[in-house]
Parts: sequence; structure tokens; C-alpha cells
Amino acid sequence: MISPVLPTYARAPLSFVKGQGPWLETSDGTRYLDMGAGIGVCSLGHAHPTLIAALETQGRRLWHTSNLYEIPNQKALAEKIVANTFADTVFMTNSGTEAIECAVKMVRKHFSHADQPERVEIITFQGAFHGRSSAGIAASGSAKMVDGFGPVLSGFVQVPFADIDAVRAAITNKTAAIMVEHIQGEGGIRVFPCADMRLLREICDENGLLLVIDEIQSGMGRTGKLFSHEWSGITPDIMTIAKGIGGGFPLGACVATERAALGMVAGTHGSTYGGNPLACAVGCAVMTEILSDGFLENVSRLSGHLRQGLESIVATHPKVFTGVRGEGLMLALQCKVPNMDVVHAGYDAKVLVVPAADNVVRLLPPLNMETFELDDALWRLEEAANAVEAKL
Ligand SMILES: *Cc1c(COP(=O)(O)O)cnc(C)c1O
Repeated sequence: MISPVLPTYARAPLSFVKGQGPWLETSDGTRYLDMGAGIGVCSLGHAHPTLIAALETQGRRLWHTSNLYEIPNQKALAEKIVANTFADTVFMTNSGTEAIECAVKMVRKHFSHADQPERVEIITFQGAFHGRSSAGIAASGSAKMVDGFGPVLSGFVQVPFADIDAVRAAITNKTAAIMVEHIQGEGGIRVFPCADMRLLREICDENGLLLVIDEIQSGMGRTGKLFSHEWSGITPDIMTIAKGIGGGFPLGACVATERAALGMVAGTHGSTYGGNPLACAVGCAVMTEILSDGFLENVSRLSGHLRQGLESIVATHPKVFTGVRGEGLMLALQCKVPNMDVVHAGYDAKVLVVPAADNVVRLLPPLNMETFELDDALWRLEEAANAVEAKL
């Protein structure tokens, strides 16, 4: 018999009833160190006092009004994003997928508005993950995601990961944009080299294309910059944000330059919930924390510490791991054994890590962890690695 919850996830038999900082607790009081942070969402850990205060204050005042009216919190959050990025304008959503959906529509509208309606195609990279909507799965192009779901939305062309020649060869008079994750998350923490990001920018400029960067997983401070593309020195025309921006409250955004957003006038796009007062109160509090003095520098410091610890686990367990990759606090252990063996051994050692494609386990811990908590996580990962090795 089908479960009341649609069985689209192979869930671990674990259920948490409360959280505090990087810790999660089951109903019997067992504590786990959460190095996945809800897939990079709980960027400030669980039960952060500032976020609770923002939620409670707004919760007593006003939850929702719809986008028929001005929403001061939405305006404040949009202004914060505009002040701290390349963007001139922001559309708020409830999820990453919806941010991607807005980006795809914006790209198409841009060219339709510019009297080039034939330009509808978006070039994406193999291994990409851009969400689960019809456009999102078409953008990824992966068989696992599109099989059985009928006609795939047209207008997406996939090229091999970071293959700049293939990008050049894929450009036609129908091409509108290139969409890229600076660091593929679901794809296995694969870093698009900064030099190649700069080439993508050049190619877009030479061919009059828009560059869309998906920072849903890599953004909001995760790599030690507010957005990971900043490491490459370029800026996109459109960027998608979600996951970390709400700290656990469902929130996302599609942000763009004024030029890219031409055509997105009243009536062209919308959302009932997107950017509601409650979500934006939390989003503002998250942004304020991440932009506070020294926060991003601390992410880089923690990253160095974690990376060094992971390298040493790899060095002492060559039968289990082959390497470490990623940037900032978006890191992965490349596994020699099936990655789920490591995830399960992590459960036994009471540390949560997240599997991803290319046989890696991901570490996306809260960005505000203490060094001793990271050491605790490393010790547990070591224990997990020992257990996996003992069974080989
Ligand atoms: C998670 C993710 C998405 C989809 O976001 P949802 O909130 O699950 O809809 C899109 N792109 C990237 C890079 C992601 O990591």
C-alpha cells in the first residue's frame, strides 16, 4: 500500500524532533552532528536566536498579504541583495526551482522584447541540477529526471561539463543564454574553473547572450564570498538564489540586471506566496548575519580547517576515499567505496553527510560552526571511515 507521503524519496530511518546549532536530536535524545544542514539550507545552524526573533516578531504582526500590495520586508530584502550584488532587481520565490523558472522565462522574454524571438535556447552543462519543474528537469537533461514525464520542454542544449569548445560549437542563432552552477552541487561538488567562468562571460558578450549563474547551493556565503562566482571576478546577467537565504524558511530569488530584466513588466510573472512578509523577515535576518563583520572571513577560515582535516582522513583511508574537492564549506569526499556506505557509517557515528552524484559525499555544514564542532565532526567521520574500512 502506498504511504501517505508520496514515496519519491528513499528516506533514512531517522527522524529529528529538535535542533540546536549544528546538532540535531531524535525523539530518544540521540544527537547527530549535522554536516548537511538540510542540504545547505540551515546556513546559520538550527534554532538561531536572531532568526527565531525575526520569525516570532513578524509572526505576531503579519504573515501574508499577497503581492497585490507593497511588502516592506520584501522591499528591504531586495534592497539588501541589490546593494551587495551585481543585480538591479529581484523576484522573490519560495524555492530554487521557482527561481530557475523565473530565470528561464526572463531569458526568453528578454529576447522576445528585443525583437529576437527566435532566441530561446539555453546551453547547460551535463551533471547540472536546476530543480524539478518541467523547465528544471529539461535544463538538467538527465535521463533519471526526465524519463516518463512526457515531452521534455524544448530549448535546452547540454554540453559536457566545463567544455568551453563544446559551448562555442553549440551556439546558433537560436541561442539565448548559458546557465551554469559555478559549483555543481547535486552533480557532485564539481567546481567550474574560474578561468572557464571568465571564458563563459566572454562568449556571452561576444555573442549577445545572457549569462545565468545558479547559486542556489553555492551562494549565500557558502564559499566565503556572498556568491561563489565572485571568486572568478565576473558577474552574470541573471542569478538564482535559494537554500541558504531563508536559513530553513522556504525562500528563493531570481535576481538580474536591469537590462536582462527588460520585458518583465506588470502581469508577466507572479507568485502568491513569493516574498511574503514572514519569509522576507527571516531572509533579512539571514542576510544581516552573513554580511556582518568577519562572517565570510570566518567561513574561509573554517573551510581551511575542515579541508585539512578531510585531506588527512583521505590520506589515512586510501581504500575508502580518493580525494577532497569543493570550495569553502561546500566540500566533498570522493569515495572509492559506494558513497552510501560512507553515509550509513556516518549515521552510526552520529554525523550526517549527504550523498551526491559522481560517488561523493557532500559536506555543507552550517557556516557559523565553532572549530571544536568541526573537529568533532572530523573525529566522527574518521570513525565512520574506520568502520567502512573494517568491512572491506
Ligand atoms: C537545490 C537546487 C535547486 C532546486 O531548488 P529547490 O529549492 O529544491 O527547488 C536548483 N539548483 C541548484 C543548484 C540546487 O542546488
